[in-house]
Amino acid sequence: MGLDLGGTQIKAGLLDPSSSVISSATDPTPTDSRPEVVIEAMSAMARRVVEEAGRSWQDVQGIGIGIPGLIDSRTGIVRACVNLKGWKDVELRELAGESLGRRVVVDNDANAAAFGEYSIALKRNTGLHHLALVTLGTGVGSGIVLNRRVFHGGGGLAGEVGHMIVEPNGHLCACGQYGCLEQYASATAVVRQATELMAAGKSSTLKARVDAGTLTTQDVFSAASEGDLVAERLIDDLASYLAIACVNLCRVIDLQAIVIGGGVAGAGDGLIRPLRKAFSRQNWGVGGGIMPKLSATELGNDAGFVGAAALAMAGLGDGQRG
Ligand SMILES: [Zn+2]
Repeated sequence: MGLDLGGTQIKAGLLDPSSSVISSATDPTPTDSRPEVVIEAMSAMARRVVEEAGRSWQDVQGIGIGIPGLIDSRTGIVRACVNLKGWKDVELRELAGESLGRRVVVDNDANAAAFGEYSIALKRNTGLHHLALVTLGTGVGSGIVLNRRVFHGGGGLAGEVGHMIVEPNGHLCACGQYGCLEQYASATAVVRQATELMAAGKSSTLKARVDAGTLTTQDVFSAASEGDLVAERLIDDLASYLAIACVNLCRVIDLQAIVIGGGVAGAGDGLIRPLRKAFSRQNWGVGGGIMPKLSATELGNDAGFVGAAALAMAGLGDGQRG
């Protein structure tokens, strides 16, 4: 069983041993976000999903929970979670374990999602064991799987690709650094840059939406496909910055694959094609300039709960820290 606990919704899914989803559900997160209330809601939801699949609770062997924020995956304690009011030093593994009557594994949601993408590679026996997921949404989230395990680093903060510096003296990021990838490759960044280009007097079919404050990255991708030069430039810039981060990642940890997720990745080839181009432009020539597999997510919004379940299934428990 995998649970993806977010600030606005909870996703739950029951997976079979081959990582295929048997049944799943999405519920709103309780407005009363006290840990005991949310855990109770998750527990009821998990049992409902099992029932809907025509299975018995006895069939559930393990449970994984992905949650945004700072998580100590070794102890299962949620140190901080900005999206859930009142969550500070919550012993989630302990409390959820009691409520669900099963062994529970807890990790950051982006780490869980990365492990979800990895579980597909594993299922297909691709021989791929080093992968990153980069999710482009309002912000840029990510997780890294190295040597078949989520890589947490010394303080549990590894894999924050969104805060890799890609532009010296660039925009100030909410994290306190300047020039983070998130400031150049998130949906928010694309809208900001479109607004700046309009203000500089560039002509584009995007202008009406920029002026109305309703511009989405989807608009940008569709305008680009119709030949709008400003839209094309926005996508090229995004792809270039994302490629810098991806190349840097590969230089340090020699990844075999980088999966792009999030709303912006909904553009599929519209993003992946310019990303591949920008990557090969930046990439070194060693070994003939071998590139990692660059692709859009296959699991989409399910990656979180699929990965959480896969983490539980991997039976890594306390040993999961990489
Ligand atoms: Zn940052």
